[in-house]
Amino acid sequence: MLASKRILIVGVGGLGVPAACALARAGFADLGLIDPDLIDLSNLPRQVIFGESNLGTAKVVAAARHLAVILPRAKVEPMLLSLDAANAAEIIARFDFVIDATDSPATKFLINDVCVDLGVSFVYGGVLGLAGQAMTILPGSTACLRCLFEEPPDEADVASCREAGIIGPVAAAIGAAQAVEALSFVNGRMPALAGTMLTLDGSQSGRVRLTPIAARIGCRCGSAESKATAGCAASPAR
Ligand SMILES: [Zn+2]
Repeated sequence: MLASKRILIVGVGGLGVPAACALARAGFADLGLIDPDLIDLSNLPRQVIFGESNLGTAKVVAAARHLAVILPRAKVEPMLLSLDAANAAEIIARFDFVIDATDSPATKFLINDVCVDLGVSFVYGGVLGLAGQAMTILPGSTACLRCLFEEPPDEADVASCREAGIIGPVAAAIGAAQAVEALSFVNGRMPALAGTMLTLDGSQSGRVRLTPIAARIGCRCGSAESKATAGCAASPAR
């Protein structure tokens, strides 16, 4: 059953590496990996599957080799490219579920919009400093990123925050949570974070929050409207 589903991971970094490893260790064998970057020294503290012998190798290639060690029957499609407006729909349409493991707000919103348009479910993930977040979006059913923020934050603001660095264990926890969401979905179960934002604050020991996120009326995802319609249709006529 698992073999007939495909999961795409966009970004092979602090979130994408732990997510991919968790999927392979769970026996999930059909993955796509997208990342345009080569491994450099700054990646090594957070991305524990890469070592100095991998410097200069494409992240997607090194990660695919590592996954083949964990799970030799894994079918991994490495894509050495950036997901962009020109290729996103064609690529995402070939997968059943998407893990957003990028650190670019613009790419997060691109994934959101293409997944909403195609009806492909995905899990958002983000880490900044000591805090991490994850939420699963089921298009037409639960809130999307644009229900929360109509526009991506300014890239310059995010870049200045990014220089503060992210904490490896927080990213690893968020990436693993994203893998669990993906596995739930492809196994036909309701992902625990569908419409619910998980916030993990590493500055306070064990501080985890779950916040239900309401779909916004008028958002392009249509989740708020379809929920209202479904509610009316489901109401018993008495
Ligand atoms: Zn929305």
